[in-house]
This record gives sequence, C-alpha cells and structure tokens, in this order.
Amino acid sequence: MCNIQKNMTMTRVLSVPSAKAPFERTTIERRELRPDDVLIDIKFCGICHSDIHNAFDEWGGGKFPMVPGHEIAGIVVAVGSEVTKFAVGDRVGVGCFVDSCGECEYCLNGEEQFCTKGVINTYNDEDYDGNLTYGGYSQKIVVKEDFVVRIPDALDLDVAAPLLCAGITTYSPLKHWNIGPGKKVAIVGMGGLGHVAIQFAHAMGAEVTVLSRSMDKKSEALSFGADHYFATSNPATFSELAGRFDLMLNTVSANLDVDAYLSLLRVDGTLVNVGAPAEPDQYHVFSLIMGRRSIAGSLVGGIRETQEMLDFAAQHGITPKIEVISADQVDEAYQRVLRSDVRYRFVIDISTL
Ligand code: NAP
Ligand code: ZN
Repeated sequence: MCNIQKNMTMTRVLSVPSAKAPFERTTIERRELRPDDVLIDIKFCGICHSDIHNAFDEWGGGKFPMVPGHEIAGIVVAVGSEVTKFAVGDRVGVGCFVDSCGECEYCLNGEEQFCTKGVINTYNDEDYDGNLTYGGYSQKIVVKEDFVVRIPDALDLDVAAPLLCAGITTYSPLKHWNIGPGKKVAIVGMGGLGHVAIQFAHAMGAEVTVLSRSMDKKSEALSFGADHYFATSNPATFSELAGRFDLMLNTVSANLDVDAYLSLLRVDGTLVNVGAPAEPDQYHVFSLIMGRRSIAGSLVGGIRETQEMLDFAAQHGITPKIEVISADQVDEAYQRVLRSDVRYRFVIDISTL
C-alpha cells in the first residue's frame, strides 16, 4: 500500500463540490502509472459548454465533486514501462474520453466513442475499476497512451486545446456526411463549436452559411471562411433560405424550432445535431416526409480521427479564437458562456491554478 501511495501523483484541481456550486481549488491523487500510461503536465484546458451542462447537472447523473475539462493540451512528463508512442517532452492532447474496451466492433473500427462496453469519459464517469474520472481543470492527468494524441508543432498549445472537443465534434460529422466542393452547408450557432465548424467546412471546400441569432458575428464569420451569414431572429431568413442546404450542423446548446430549420434542407438533406440541450426536441414528421429529409446526431469522434483532425487543422491553419483566463475566472466564464459573451472559446491557463 505504502509503495502505491508513494507513486501516485498529487495534483491541484478546480473542483465543483455539488451541482451549480462555485469552483474550489483542491488536490487529488492521480493513479500510479501503469505500463501503458503517460503522465501529462496540463498547460491549457478549454471550457466546453458540455462542462457547464455537467457541472450544473443539467443532463442528470452528475458525479460530485467533479473536475470538468476535456479539451486538454500539455506536455508528457513521465511514461510507463511499455509506452511506445510517446516520450517525455512530447506535446499532447486528451479529449472527451480516456478508455474503451478495445475489442468491440466500434473500437476496432476506431470509433471508441460508441464502445459497446461503454466508453470512459474523461471526467464525471467511473472507469472500468470503479474509480471516478477527473478532467482537465487540473495540473496533471494520467491517461492510457492509446487515448492520447499528438499536437502538431504548428499549433500552439492554447489554441490546440479547444480542438480536442470542439474541433473533433465538428470535423467528424462533416467528414461522415462527405462534405466537400459542391455541398451547401449551414452552421447553426456560432459559439465554441460553431466557429471551428465554419473553418473546417470551408477548408473542406463547401459553400458555408452561418445561421446566428443576430448580425453581431457577421464580419468574424466571414473571416473564418463563411460565404454567407444570416440572422435567425429575422423571419425573412427562413423564407429566403428554404430548401437550400445539403447539411445543417446544429451546434446550439438550447432547443430550436426544428421544423423551421428542417425547411431549409434540400430533398435528402440532413440536420445533424451536435448541440445537446437537456430537454427533448419536437418536430412534425411531415417536415421529414416532404423532402425525404433526415435528422441525425453525432458524438465527438474516435482517436484516429482526432489525430487526423489535428493534422488537418495544422495543415490548413485552422485555429480556434480563444480568450485565455486564469483559474480564478472560471465561474465568471461559465456565466459569460451562458450569455454567449465569449469570442469564441475560454481556455484556462493551468499555470494559474
Ligand atoms: P457555446 O459556445 O455556448 O455555443 C452555442 C451557441 O449556440 C451560441 O454561441 C449561440 O450562437 C447559440 N445559442 C445559444 N443559446 C441559444 C438559444 N437559446 N437559441 C438559439 N441559439 C442559441 O457552446 P459550445 O461549447 O459550442 O457547445 C454547444 C453544444 O454542443 C452544447 O450543448 C454542448 O454540450 C454540445 N456538445 C456536443 C458534443 C457532441 O459530441 N455531440 C460535443 C461538444 C459539445 P449564436 O450567438 O451564433 O446564435
Ligand atoms: Zn466538449
């Protein structure tokens, strides 16, 4: 027992003691390195709206105290005896999950997020040994090497962090639905996910339209590569764009008038939801029938695809636009995300923890 204690890593964290409570600074122990683990010194961690849904327990099942954070960028500081992919000093990232069975058809296909045994989320989850997982609002984390990705040298660690969730969550459906030249894509909601989605869809060659509530973000949307921009607060937007899009990627954290958005799809068009409001959506089935339209959803992306996304971002100069904050500002940052008062992702400088 004493030996195990000795080899565990104490780390400072920001923790939420109960739903909606303010963050507290505290200390936790990270497990002793297993042969296939790496120890990461976290430099930056993004604030995803999912962190807020979880810390406020809006989706239910919250495990408290909770240490959120699944947009992790840092440096490897130790490796287990059998680690082959990483060495001390490597620049690495960790996203939304840290383990999966490795044997089911989805794991074998590189889509660990759909693991039939149950993927292990980076935080707010129980690992296969029954221990709670704690995320990236933390100085250090221990992760199995198969769930760690390499951050290309062309990407600074602070801007790379949001790609680990916002990046892969938008890249993956755009690839899955074969977005490229000749495709008309709408990005609904221009927040953390949406502003990265614009850049990916543009780099893939699609004609990109942004649907935001107001006109406030128009010039930045165009600078990210959008071809068109419309305000959804203007009812004329819906008549003007009727039947236009092959794909709509909905990144909105709240419920929308689904029928109104479906009416903007071409025949055979698809509305893909990545935004995850707590309450169920409603729609009229005729909105689908009349245009052979589909409603779909998409969950982050697998490890192989996450690496592909990071390499693609580095190659195409895709970087989230971030506001770096200190550990003391996280409660305030949550309130600002809820007011959509962020351009476009908060990233915690973990050295301030
Ligand atoms: P975010 O930064 O808060 O962006 C959400 C955007 O939605 C806002 O910027 C705003 O865009 C729009 N919006 C917010 N409230 C709205 C309302 N009441 N009506 C209409 N539009 C509204 O959040 P995020 O971090 O991008 O995350 C977005 C959602 O994706 C969250 O629900 C999150 O949990 C979910 N998510 C899902 C996955 C997945 O795997 N499926 C992964 C990560 C996150 P405008 O100001 O432009 O209108
Ligand atoms: Zn996220």
